[in-house]
Parts: sequence; C-alpha cells; structure tokens
Amino acid sequence: MKVTLLGTGGSAGVPMIGGADGGGDWGDCDPGEPRNRRTRSSIVVESEIGQRLLVDTSPDMREQLLRCGIPGVDAVLFTHAHADHITGIDDVRILNRIAGRPLSAFTTMATLTDLIRRFGYAFRPWEPPHFYRPVLEGRPVSHGDLFEAAGLPVQVFTQNHGRVDTLGLRIGAFGYSTDVVALNDAAFSILEGVDTWVVGCFLRRGPHWTHADLKTVLEWVERLRPRRTVLTHMGTDMDWAWMRENLPAGVEAGYDGMVLAV
Ligand SMILES: [Zn+2]
Ligand SMILES: [Zn+2]
Repeated sequence: MKVTLLGTGGSAGVPMIGGADGGGDWGDCDPGEPRNRRTRSSIVVESEIGQRLLVDTSPDMREQLLRCGIPGVDAVLFTHAHADHITGIDDVRILNRIAGRPLSAFTTMATLTDLIRRFGYAFRPWEPPHFYRPVLEGRPVSHGDLFEAAGLPVQVFTQNHGRVDTLGLRIGAFGYSTDVVALNDAAFSILEGVDTWVVGCFLRRGPHWTHADLKTVLEWVERLRPRRTVLTHMGTDMDWAWMRENLPAGVEAGYDGMVLAV
C-alpha cells in the first residue's frame, strides 16, 4: 500500500495570505525551507493493484493531484465538511471523466447531509454521457464500520474535533487522524497495532480547542506506539528544522508530496 500526503497544512495553509510584502505570513516557519510550504490537508491511499482512495477534496486539490502525479482516483472519503477539506469538490468532475463513472463518497450521514445542503448539484444522479459537474454517490458510514473503498479495507472511527466530529481511518497497518483534538478509547482500540500513523498536529504552543497540539499528540504516540508517526495539518509555528531537531525518535513532520510505503 502506498500513501501520498497531498497536503499537510492547516486550514489557512503555510504561508497564510499576508506578510509585510504580501509574500505570505510564515509565522515561525523558515520561508527558505521548501518543506514548510504546506497546502491544505488531504491524502491518497493506493492499493497493491493501483486503485486509489482520495481522502478529502481540499481547495488545493487540482494542484496537489498534478504535482503528486496522481492520474485518477476510484473513490472519495470525506473526514468532515470543513471548507479546507471539501471546497475542491468541483474538480471531481475531471476525476469522474477519467473514471468514466460516478464516484462513491464515503462519509458520515451528518457530513453527507451538510455536503448535500451546500453542494447538492454534486450528488444529483448522473445524466450520461457527460460530466459537466461532479457526480458523487453518497455512501453513509459510521463509527466502527469496516467496508471496501477503492479495493481497500477501510475501518472508520469517530474523532472529537471541537464542535464537530471527524472520521479517522484505519486501512491495514495504516492510520489517518486529521482534525482531531481528543481521541476516546474506542478510537484507540481501532488504531491499536498500527504501523504508520499520520496524525494532525496544528501547533506546538497549545492548547487549541479544535486541534491537538504537539504535547497531546506525543501523549497519544506514547500510548499507541506506532513504528512511524507522521505529523500533518500543521500551522505556522511548526517549523521543519525545529521539528527535525526536537521530535522524538519515530515521530517526524510530513510534507506535501511525501510518499509512505506501508
Ligand atoms: Zn482541517
Ligand atoms: Zn476541520
């Protein structure tokens, strides 16, 4: 299984819009380090036979797929309906054209309801033969469900993200937990024994009310003990060089375009 980190940034990306010269607000991140430039968080998981599951459709999705050389996807899963995870949805129509069919969209009923309210046109039935708009078929799933998506055995679990819940994923030896501030025992039991865990860590100077800070993530790692932990959804106080120097063994910062063999 191959996992590509399409984007590893927080909801505003790194740098954020702004900066004295308009070149971006980098916070504590060194603008000279290319791995500090982060688009919005999303991944692609590819099975042994080359089927691909896209997790979230970020506002940067088009550029991400082009830059990472992803020629198409077989299904989509939405972790939740925050704008930084869904607003690339219009470009799904190109993914439909490549696949030649509607694409399944796995998510919770709550997120699906929200997506249909905001992007109803993307969930109307396909009128063959063209794809002038995205065509997604909602596949509601809930905590603990184990199902096949893009040929992959996916198990989902509920994560606390402040005002809303998000879906975490377990696919074989791989775990993905973005946009999470608290994990309960049920989530930990599904993640137990995971080899490679990609986990959201928005900032090192916490706490934050919707995202885990570094201290919290390191406590989770202590409990779960994955072989490899890769941080994602990072904000502007998460400098690459600082993390390389200071993160404990087995924990590293992700970066846009990073490929993990699991
Ligand atoms: Zn997010
Ligand atoms: Zn979010």
